[in-house]
Amino acid sequence: MRAVTVTPGVPDSLRLVEDWPEPPPEEGAILVEALAVGICGTDQEIIAGDYGEAPPGQERLVLGHESLGRVLEDPTGTLRPGDLVAGVVRHPDPVPCPNCAVDEWDMCRNGRYTEHGIKALPGFARDRWRVQPKFAVGLDPVLAPVGMLLEPTSVVAKAWDHIERIGARAEWKPQSVLVTGAGPIGLLAALLAIQRGLSVHVLDRNTTGPKPDLVRALGATYHTVPVAELDFAPDVVVECTGAPVVVLDAMYKVGPIGIVCLTGVSSGGRTLDLDAGALNRELVLENNVVFGSVNANRRHWELAAEALARADQSWLNSLITRRVPVSAYAEAYTQTGEDIKVVLDFTA
Ligand SMILES: [Zn+2]
Repeated sequence: MRAVTVTPGVPDSLRLVEDWPEPPPEEGAILVEALAVGICGTDQEIIAGDYGEAPPGQERLVLGHESLGRVLEDPTGTLRPGDLVAGVVRHPDPVPCPNCAVDEWDMCRNGRYTEHGIKALPGFARDRWRVQPKFAVGLDPVLAPVGMLLEPTSVVAKAWDHIERIGARAEWKPQSVLVTGAGPIGLLAALLAIQRGLSVHVLDRNTTGPKPDLVRALGATYHTVPVAELDFAPDVVVECTGAPVVVLDAMYKVGPIGIVCLTGVSSGGRTLDLDAGALNRELVLENNVVFGSVNANRRHWELAAEALARADQSWLNSLITRRVPVSAYAEAYTQTGEDIKVVLDFTA
């Protein structure tokens, strides 16, 4: 069968292997036929050789962590043949740490977790894969064209879950949300904010392309000015750019008892002038919280599946700007400025 693979640490080693072995039964009882995988920045970093780890004893890593497939067989009876399914990306560490021990692998403390298509577990960019019931998330049949958005949605479902848990420390009635960055994560964070009945503002530097219209179609307001120039103080900021200036401005801009959730990963190496004392005073005197959020546990995957099933399906569809057949896989991994989400199609 076909598999899209890299040799981790070797730049530009991306290859479609035509005779990749069938998934072994140890991988899980549920056998799945791949429909699609979504592609994101992590895949690009792995292809560049900056990131990624093959399974123990193997040279190549199968890519793909944003999965969508159809169940072929499930002897456990958890799912039925024909059901749509996605595989949870992260598996708990073997120790396990106190968080992994209670299935909060997204909060792993020792970093020894594994991840499909990223770290020591084969990815989902292959014709068939297997999954254990614990890591298999069923999807509403309506999500067949867009279900590969479940993984990025799980990331923002966790972000919102933690924002609300932090908010619950006191009486908290948020009204406005600022999402910085209108890529897939930012747009899906905005979707979940709209579903919460909040007044949603999305800020991005793009003035052309599909982003402004996608934001407006959601019922949110699109901004292209710097964060510091916005004329309101949001109750919540979901930061999705990782750009140092935007991150800092968000911490200053958020309103009293505000919450800033950081989801963007910065590359580092760039220094900015920062008045740490003034920032500290701002955070203390306004009871503000700044926190980081990454990955998701099973509960978040299920919340994300509900959120996607409830969303406007044509809007979700318009996030997918290219669907590339596996035979043209190299095109799928070639970035263009206009893309929101590119999907590798295993059915074509
Ligand atoms: Zn752990």
